Amino acid sequence: MVTVENKTSSSNFIKNIVSEDLKAGKVQEVITRFPPEPNGYLHIGHAKSICLNFELADEFKGKTNLRFDDTNPIKEDTEFVEAIQEDVRWLGFEWDELRFASDYFEEMYNRAVLLIKKGKAFVCDLSAEQMREMRGSLTEPGKNSPYRERSVEENLDLFARMRAGEFKDGERILRAKIDMSAPNINLRDPALYRIAHVHHHRTGDEWCIYPMYDYAHPIGDAIEGVTHSICTLEFEDHRPLYDWTIQECEMESQPHQYEFARLNITNTIMSKRYLKSLVDQGVVESWDDPRMPTISGLRRKGFTSESIRAFCREIGVARAYSVVDERMLEFFIREDLKLKAPRTMAVIQPLKVIITNYPEGQVEMLEAENNAENEEMGSRQIPFSREIYIEQDDFMENPVSKYFRLFPGNEVRLKHAYFITCQEVIKDAEGNVVELHCTYDPETKSGSGFTGRKVKGTIHWVEATQAVPAEFRLFEPLLTDEANESGKEFLECINPSSLTVLQGFVEPNMKEAQGQDKFQFFRHGYFNVDPKHTSKEKIVFNRIVSLKSSFDAAKGK
Ligand code: ATP
Ligand code: MG
Repeated sequence: MVTVENKTSSSNFIKNIVSEDLKAGKVQEVITRFPPEPNGYLHIGHAKSICLNFELADEFKGKTNLRFDDTNPIKEDTEFVEAIQEDVRWLGFEWDELRFASDYFEEMYNRAVLLIKKGKAFVCDLSAEQMREMRGSLTEPGKNSPYRERSVEENLDLFARMRAGEFKDGERILRAKIDMSAPNINLRDPALYRIAHVHHHRTGDEWCIYPMYDYAHPIGDAIEGVTHSICTLEFEDHRPLYDWTIQECEMESQPHQYEFARLNITNTIMSKRYLKSLVDQGVVESWDDPRMPTISGLRRKGFTSESIRAFCREIGVARAYSVVDERMLEFFIREDLKLKAPRTMAVIQPLKVIITNYPEGQVEMLEAENNAENEEMGSRQIPFSREIYIEQDDFMENPVSKYFRLFPGNEVRLKHAYFITCQEVIKDAEGNVVELHCTYDPETKSGSGFTGRKVKGTIHWVEATQAVPAEFRLFEPLLTDEANESGKEFLECINPSSLTVLQGFVEPNMKEAQGQDKFQFFRHGYFNVDPKHTSKEKIVFNRIVSLKSSFDAAKGK
């Protein structure tokens, strides 16, 4: 079977670099790493970085480490460490080694001592605000700190006392001594270590000084022998500091940093800070709420790892800024499920239909194929009787023009069953349609070869006495279009109808459906059994995607 997975990945600029490096003998074995900060769940943007790092190493028979960048204990949590590992595995990747930046705290400290001894780092007593003021700007050079010329001995003593916990948070920092007039602001004596009396999820209270990202990252890479350290473009200006750190800390191994453009998707929030606030404010149920663009949210919504990998491959890797249309991701899940998901019938907004000329108490079984495009999926038996449910919007009392579904006097085909004609509309005291009385024509049974006459509409249905109650959750983007307008607070732009919950029915043979099972419901789209909310009493389905995007429909596909 041809699946979305089989497409070969195309070349990209990083692959070319790796290939050249191997050819020139600059590296013997490619080692990459995926370095998440355990301060939230991974999102679809991270998936791009994961695929890039793992597939690159894989292609050249190298290795990839999963390294938690846990240098900021204030925001980090073991819940995130576990969720991230689960997500990477689910995406289909196995890391060579599991590492933590905190594994290297002692080594990083020792290298900082080396920097001090070489006169390349100093302890600074300026406050954060004073430092900011003296940093200069893009057009003006910065000013040297008055503490810049401290002696090596004094610096060693102060740094040791910082580690020993003698000072309060923010009282002192360790800075690199590079150049306050460097055009690149990142080189203006950047901070290497800060004091933070905070409990760390792995090292506990052992440390009260923590290395800054720009210092910790290159050292971690070098210790692990990473050859190609791939990150997003906002770190491009940090590369000279990366190289400085490797050089001045006298690391034996010489990793190189390469930058690519981060993934942006229309209508999709791709910042952990914002995603976290949606969770903290209770706008969504949790990090894995199916509306979230997190990997766990997409999984619970029903996306497959194959579809996400195929999407990442398709968007490619480049340095140019771009925004990918959200419908591209939807395209890949439709492609993946097209031949895999059984096609069954679900009524999500039920309207009872009584077939008045069908014998009372009789139930017959009808044959229905499981996937018209994939014969291998076989067929199933579905019951049919005098009482069925159809979709409320498959009936119109006063049909608009070109409405081919059910209306008084009109005949339609019931998928896999018979033709029925609407004879009578039953209403409640308020005038709402509550039931339809129809007649069926026994000659028109599906598969019987009946050619007597044609009908224009086919509708789906579920037999009423054996139908399985089900809940359907339909989703819209979390943010309204206003979010793109300036001046609006992020939380003011929450789409109030991002979740619609409907109660309806599915076919009886779906009673045993398990969490994460996927189906195509005739006309409604692809659905996934929600693993959290499904219980013995009720199956809950998340809509993954409708059958056609409005985009496809507009293009007449
Ligand atoms: P966020 O901005 O959402 O908080 P982050 O970059 O701070 O994300 P990290 O945990 O530091 O999150 O990211 C781990 C890796 O994933 C980094 O190498 C980062 O460059 C990469 N990454 C993060 N977001 C994206 C994205 N949208 N597209 C591609 N790669 C990304
Ligand atoms: Mg980051």
